[in-house]
Amino acid sequence: LVSRKRKPEDTIVDVNGEKIGNGTPSFVFGPCAVESYEQVLAVAESIKSKGLTMLRGGAYKPRTSPYDFQGLGLEGLKILKRVSNETGLSIVTEIITPAHLEEALEYIDVIQIGARNMQNFELLKEAGMANKPVLLKRGLAATIDEFINAAEYIISKGNSQIMLCERGIRTYERATRNTLDISAVPILKQETHLPVFVDVTHSTGRKDLLLPTAKAAIAVGADGVMAEVHPDPAVALSDAAQQMDIKQFDEFYEELQRFMNTH
Ligand code: PEP
Ligand code: MN
Repeated sequence: LVSRKRKPEDTIVDVNGEKIGNGTPSFVFGPCAVESYEQVLAVAESIKSKGLTMLRGGAYKPRTSPYDFQGLGLEGLKILKRVSNETGLSIVTEIITPAHLEEALEYIDVIQIGARNMQNFELLKEAGMANKPVLLKRGLAATIDEFINAAEYIISKGNSQIMLCERGIRTYERATRNTLDISAVPILKQETHLPVFVDVTHSTGRKDLLLPTAKAAIAVGADGVMAEVHPDPAVALSDAAQQMDIKQFDEFYEELQRFMNTH
C-alpha cells in the first residue's frame, strides 16, 4: 500500500494544517529530550518566531544504557501539551510502547517511532490504528526494504498519514555518529508515495555537519529536515554534544533559507 506503483501521486501529510510533501520543505526542531517547561518553551519560541509549526522533544527516551536519563514520561507529555497550547506549535514526540499510545494521543500531534522501534511490529500496528500522523524513523541497521515494510505495517492497519525519516545507518565509519544514507531519500521517493524527512542530528552527530547535510537533503528532494535544538546544550540530559543552541539554530535556519531561496 505504500508503493508508488499502487498510488502514483504523492501523499500529503497534514499536521494541523502544515502540509508535508507538497513541494515546500517542512521542519521539525526541538530538544532531544523534554527536561523542563522552561527549556521546551525557550526552543518553541524560537521555532515560532521563524514561522515554523512543529516542535519535537522526547518524553520517553530509548537510551542505550539503562542508567542514562530515560525521559520524564507522562510529565514530559504534559509539558509538551502546555507549550503547544501556549504557542500553537504541533508536537512530534516518540512513543516507545503500545502501552503508552492511547494516553499519549491526548497530548501529541505526531507519533514518532524511533530507530530502535522500527521493527516493533505491535507498536507499528497500534500506530496504524491511531488517527494521528506517524513519523517513522529508519532502523539503526535497517535496509530500505525493511524500512518500507515497517511503513507497510502502519498503512495496512488503515493509517496512511506516514512520514519516513532517514536518520543514518550503522557502518564501519566512525567520523560521524551514523552514516547518512542520502541516496535513501530519492529511492524512498521513487518506491513510495510518502513524504521523506532527513534527521541531520542523529545521522551525523556533528554540529558542523548539520547545515551541509540539511542542504544536501533538500537538494535530493527531501520533504523535511529534523534537527535538535536546546537552550543550553552543554547541560542537556541527552545528546549534549550534538544539539544546536538557539543562536546556532538561528544561523543554521537563516543559511538554509538562503540556500532554498537561491536553488
Ligand atoms: C530521536 O529522534 O529522539 C531519536 C532517539 O532518534 P533515533 O530514533 O533516530 O535514534
Ligand atoms: Mn537525540
